[in-house]
Amino acid sequence: MRTDRRGFLKEVAGAAGLVFVGCGMADAAAQSAARGSATRRPLVVKGRRIRTVDVHAHCAVTKASDLLRRGASAPAGAAQASPLALEGQALERRLAEMDAAGIDIAILSINPNWYDADRDLAAQVITAQNESMAAFCASHADRFAAFASVALQFPDLAAEQLEQGMKKMGFRGAAIGGNVAGRELSDAAFHPFWARAEELGAVVFIHPQASASAELNARLKGNGMLGNVIGNPLETTIALSHLIFEGTLDRFPGVKICAAHGGGYLPSYMSRSDHGCMTFPAQCTPGVPKLAPTEYVKRMYFDSLVFTPEALRHLVAEVGLRT
Ligand SMILES: [Zn+2]
Repeated sequence: MRTDRRGFLKEVAGAAGLVFVGCGMADAAAQSAARGSATRRPLVVKGRRIRTVDVHAHCAVTKASDLLRRGASAPAGAAQASPLALEGQALERRLAEMDAAGIDIAILSINPNWYDADRDLAAQVITAQNESMAAFCASHADRFAAFASVALQFPDLAAEQLEQGMKKMGFRGAAIGGNVAGRELSDAAFHPFWARAEELGAVVFIHPQASASAELNARLKGNGMLGNVIGNPLETTIALSHLIFEGTLDRFPGVKICAAHGGGYLPSYMSRSDHGCMTFPAQCTPGVPKLAPTEYVKRMYFDSLVFTPEALRHLVAEVGLRT
């Protein structure tokens, strides 16, 4: 439960633009080496030591933020306290928290805020981010890995960035948003990216971003951070549903999707998706998707950021365990 609560706080903090400062890698590596072996809480299931991976670990690279002029600089004092900060924390504190939570490896990712950038700027941003993450992960390979960032608004470029990132920089896949400046991930324009991801065996981590819909955003205004607390899981639900219902996952069946926040609302209510086209076949394209929608959901991967043990139990009951 405590870990889930922390996950919530992390998500809120992420919206505030906390950072991973990409300078001072050497200093950070030295600190890491000096740290020695911290106490780590091992996770043991049925007597077997399990390696736990946190796939939902945000960071940002200040050089890229500066290029975008988005002002995602370090919170006051954070960068000065340590040459490397993760989500505003010193690296050592982050590692101590990972140890306490029983997390062996965190896979870093950067939430896309460059989908409106032109090609040259987007290329510069991605290069800065991926080089920084790769250098950091190389210095801390025992505890950190990363998903590449890609300029998905230029699908051919994104495919190249993904391939280079996986073959030359050690990334495990890519992190993308739930839409690309208003375009759905199922848009045919993105087929080259999905094709390359499938070919490379990449894990594609889908994390929601603010909706591009003015109507929806207007309804999410007001007290309660509705844009975050229900807008985010709804965004993920929409993104995954389009990938299923537009036939993208039939076209690229080998694509490995990992959805943030337990897949949003989709896994917990996915059986409704199986009944829409059965009940109203005239409103669906015959043969698309090929399988029952729930079958695609069961093939996806999900993080466990669902806040309560019961929600996690239900997620597992619906989608099964993937090994
Ligand atoms: Zn997140």
